[in-house]
Amino acid sequence: MSDEQQDMQVFFNVFDAMQRQGPGSDSTIHRVLQQVKRIHLPQRIVDMGCGKGHATCLLARETQAEVLALDLHQPFIKSLQQRAAAEGLSQLAARVGSMDQPELLPGVFDLIWSEGSAYNIGFERALAIWRPLLSENGLVYISDMVQLTDELAAEARIYLEQEGVEFQHVDDRIRQAQALGYQVLEHFILPQQDWLDFYGDMEQQIKRLEPVVGKDHPVLISLKQEIDIYRRFGHQFGYACLLMQKTRD
Ligand code: SAM
Repeated sequence: MSDEQQDMQVFFNVFDAMQRQGPGSDSTIHRVLQQVKRIHLPQRIVDMGCGKGHATCLLARETQAEVLALDLHQPFIKSLQQRAAAEGLSQLAARVGSMDQPELLPGVFDLIWSEGSAYNIGFERALAIWRPLLSENGLVYISDMVQLTDELAAEARIYLEQEGVEFQHVDDRIRQAQALGYQVLEHFILPQQDWLDFYGDMEQQIKRLEPVVGKDHPVLISLKQEIDIYRRFGHQFGYACLLMQKTRD
């Protein structure tokens, strides 16, 4: 096995064991769902970049909608299929697929959900590709990294940019959404506690793996650096949570 393959194995060994694959929480999901239900009860939902699908299962339980989940990583999809079967969520389907080529029927989704994943294809590109999939007045919920203060420590910027994060302020995201044919119905910043819980889970997985792969494994060092950067500079960046509605064509 090449070094790169070994690194990927360690990386996924951490994330496969975590409940969520990105920061967020049930209470934040409930907050957004409450707002969604005030507008309409979705009949069809797609969760883009679902990870192991903790949110997908909650969406299926809370709405009774037909829910489809897409992710590139096959083991996440397999784990979600097993969980959905065990929990009797027969209206939930999960498959391997890419968010930028979702190969889905146009005009049928009342809600597109994407926590911490849209950045992989770019926030604006995601909104442009997903708009035709939405039903009339369809909704999109995205959580996406933004800069919260005018200052952003160089150390944090360099680390996160190398992870593919493209820094913008919330107001930029709102303007971009509007320009792409969406109205932003609600936006808020993901609570810090959601990040701390996520990184608490990640730390446990790192501790579990250290005796197996060594404390100095580059993947574990990089994840520890990410946690450290959040603890020191997490007041300067975070997730903007945006609930958007397609405007009329
Ligand atoms: N939404 C999940 C959550 O909050 O737990 C996962 C978030 S995780 C930070 C990002 C996810 O996006 C990963 O599961 C990754 O496999 C997936 N991903 C990355 N690029 C993708 C793509 N082009 N299409 C579909 N999924 C993708």
